[in-house]
Amino acid sequence: MYRFLTALTAASFLYTGAVSAQDNTLSAQDAATAQALIDHSLNDDLGYQILESLTTEVGPRLAGSEADPRAVAWAVEKLNSLGFEEVWTEDVDIDGWARGDEYGHILAPFPQPVHLTALGGSVATGDTGLSGGIIAFHDVIDLQRANPEVVKDKIVYLSKRITRTQDGSGYGPTVINRGIGASEAAKLGAKAVIIRSVGTDSHRFPHTGGLRYQDGIAKIPAAALSNPDADLLENMLARGKTVEFKLVLTPRFTGKKITQNVIAEVRGSERPDEVVVIGGHLDSWDLGTGAVDDGAGVAISTAAAKYVLDLPKAQRPKRTIRLILWGAEEIGLIGARAYAKAHADELDKHIMAWESDFGAGPIWKINSSINEDAISAFKEMARALGPIGIDYGHNQGRGGPDVSPLQAAGVPVAQLAQDGSDYFDLHHTADDTLDKVDPAALAQNVAAYAAFAYLVANSDVDFRKEN
Ligand code: ZN
Ligand code: ZN
Repeated sequence: MYRFLTALTAASFLYTGAVSAQDNTLSAQDAATAQALIDHSLNDDLGYQILESLTTEVGPRLAGSEADPRAVAWAVEKLNSLGFEEVWTEDVDIDGWARGDEYGHILAPFPQPVHLTALGGSVATGDTGLSGGIIAFHDVIDLQRANPEVVKDKIVYLSKRITRTQDGSGYGPTVINRGIGASEAAKLGAKAVIIRSVGTDSHRFPHTGGLRYQDGIAKIPAAALSNPDADLLENMLARGKTVEFKLVLTPRFTGKKITQNVIAEVRGSERPDEVVVIGGHLDSWDLGTGAVDDGAGVAISTAAAKYVLDLPKAQRPKRTIRLILWGAEEIGLIGARAYAKAHADELDKHIMAWESDFGAGPIWKINSSINEDAISAFKEMARALGPIGIDYGHNQGRGGPDVSPLQAAGVPVAQLAQDGSDYFDLHHTADDTLDKVDPAALAQNVAAYAAFAYLVANSDVDFRKEN
C-alpha cells in the first residue's frame, strides 16, 4: 500500500502530459491517475497471485461439479480478504453433467488406440461403448447435404481444422462442428459423432467444450479427437478402406444444481447507481486447472478492481465499478443470462461492460461498441493505454461472452483485445495450467483493465447508442 501511494503521488507531480489539454476530454488528473494505475500494475504481481491461488486451491471447477461451490467460496473469501466493501452472490440454476470414462479405438484397418474426450453435455455410449464405420465430412454444412442412406448407423467424423489467428476469428466458423454436429448427424441417422479438436496445437490432448442438442432430435454421443489422432484417422481414411471405430463414453447427468455469480464493487463516489461492469468467468472445464480459460480473466479483472479500490479516497471514481466473476459460462452462458434477467431494470444505468475471456496474452487493441458521438472521448481514454502497446481499433467490438446478453440489451461495451495467437493451443484441454501464463503479460492486462475501468468510471460520458 505504501509503495502504491508513493507511486501515485510521484506520478501526479511528474506527469507532463501525453495528452494536451485542449484536444481531449481527459483531465490531467485523470491521465495521471490512469498512468499511476498502469505503473503500479506493472510493478506488482497481485493478478498472478490470484491466479496461482485459484488454480492451486481449487483447480478444475466445472459448473455443477463438487468443485463448483468450492470455487464460489474461494472467490467470496478472496474478494473479502482483498477488502472489497460489497461482496455478494446471485444464484444461477443449472443442470449438472459429469465426465466419465472415455476411450477411443480404431478397430480396423490398423487397430490402435486414440486420444479423445467427450464434448460437454454429451450423452453416454453405455459402459461397453459402441462401434461402427466412420463416414467423414469437412464440416456440418457438408454433413447437412449428405444422403441419409450413407450416414445411417455410421459414426460421423468432422475434420475441419481451426486456423490460428491473433484475434481468435478462426474459432467461430469451426466451433459450429462442436456445437451442432451431434444433432445434425443424428438427423441423418448417425449413431455418434467425433470431431477434430477445435485446437491449433499438435499435442495429444483433445479439446472439450459444450455441445447443444436440438430439441426433438435423438441425442447421440459426441467426442473430440486430439489433432494428431485426427491426422491418424484421416491417413487411414485416405487409403480408401472402411475405418471401424469403437467409442466408449460414460458421462452422466447429475440433476438440477445451483451455482453463483460472485460480485463485488468499488462504489462510485458521486453516482454509485451508474455501473461499469468488468469480470471473467469463474467456472472452467474439468480437464485442466482453468488457468488460461478463465482463471486469467478472474485474476486480471479482480486485481484491476483492487487497484482502483486502493486509490486514495479523493481519487475514487464517480461511477461504480462492478466486478462480476461469472458462473456457468462454459455450459452455455447461464450465469450471464441470469444476471441480465435479474438486473433488467437497472441495465439503463450500466454505463459500459467488458469481460476478459481470451487467455492472458498481451492486449494490443481496444475496440468499442458505443454511440458514434462518444467515440472521440473513448479514443482519448484509449490513448492512456498507448504506453503499454494498446491502440484504438474499431467500433464493432464485442465485450466478451458473458456480457453478450448485456450488449444485446443495449449496454455499451469495450473489447480489450488480447493477442490470442496461442490461445487455442491450450483451450479446454488438460494442458490449460498455470505454467502457460506469462506473468508480465498478465500484469499488462491488469494495467489496461485498471486504467481503463478507472477512466470510464470517472467520466461523465454517455456511451449508450440511440434506440
Ligand atoms: Zn472462457
Ligand atoms: Zn471456455
